[in-house]
Amino acid sequence: MNPLPPLREVIAAHGLSASKALGQNFLLDEQLLARIAAIPGDLQDRAVLEVGPGPGGLTRALLRAGARVTAIEMDRRCLPALAELGEVFPGRLRVVEGDALKLDHDELMGEPYAIVANLPYNVGTALFTGWLGGEQWPPTWTSLTLMFQQEVAQRVVAAPGSDPYGRLAILAQWRSTAKLAMKVHRSAFTPPPKVMSAIVHVTPAEAPPGVSARVLEKLTEAAFGQRRKMLRQSLKGVPGALRALDSLGIDATRRAETLSVLEFVSIARELTGSQLSRVSTVPPRDQPGRA
Ligand code: SAM
Repeated sequence: MNPLPPLREVIAAHGLSASKALGQNFLLDEQLLARIAAIPGDLQDRAVLEVGPGPGGLTRALLRAGARVTAIEMDRRCLPALAELGEVFPGRLRVVEGDALKLDHDELMGEPYAIVANLPYNVGTALFTGWLGGEQWPPTWTSLTLMFQQEVAQRVVAAPGSDPYGRLAILAQWRSTAKLAMKVHRSAFTPPPKVMSAIVHVTPAEAPPGVSARVLEKLTEAAFGQRRKMLRQSLKGVPGALRALDSLGIDATRRAETLSVLEFVSIARELTGSQLSRVSTVPPRDQPGRA
């Protein structure tokens, strides 16, 4: 193992007091960090994009696992600590200062890459929907390993009929496999957030032919915008949707949460190429920060 000072020393030496505004809750337990870095599988010489390395705890675990890491961090205070880490792993760590929401990750990486991140909830969810929402499939990234609030992680892996089942589950499951990889107790973080966390691991599967991601997105937006209503009501504003239900033999008195991911995909396939772009959209639910 490469000689590195304990993370607490790194934080103290560089004055990295956790910023609430940046959603900073650091992981310092190196055994836990090694277990997280193992979730994407063998990383030997693989390209990894880490978003939000902070003082570099997860970064050092990824480097020790043999990865070539590109890390995007928007807190300038962390850069000297990350530069020191780069010296211990010459040529294997590239640090990019900036806001991950504003960068083109494929362009930055230039090759297939795994994504690993422990981020504040609002940033993590926005990046997650962006990574999963593109029309190009399979994407250039090979897997997503992301820390979320446990409640959000449950929404990602939720099954039909359950309370957390909704747009996030469909987005994560219609052409990917999404698993709950690890629960992480709030006490593992410094400072501890108010809620528990969990890591989800997502790998792309084959995309069902003839379905547009945008059409599916608009369909689920309408369906779950009024999740307690029957489909014949919630999908009224979606051109062709009621006809599609009829031709697929899906009972229009059902509610959105009872439909399987496959049923949503079948409806979206019927609608792809129709005039769905005229549907009015419902704004997504408020997304509070981690704490
Ligand atoms: N990865 C470290 C760990 O596990 O201990 C730090 C995790 S901390 C929860 C989140 C990190 O993401 C912070 O270092 C913060 O500065 C950074 N961050 C927050 N928003 C960001 C954004 N939009 N782009 C890049 N980094 C961001």
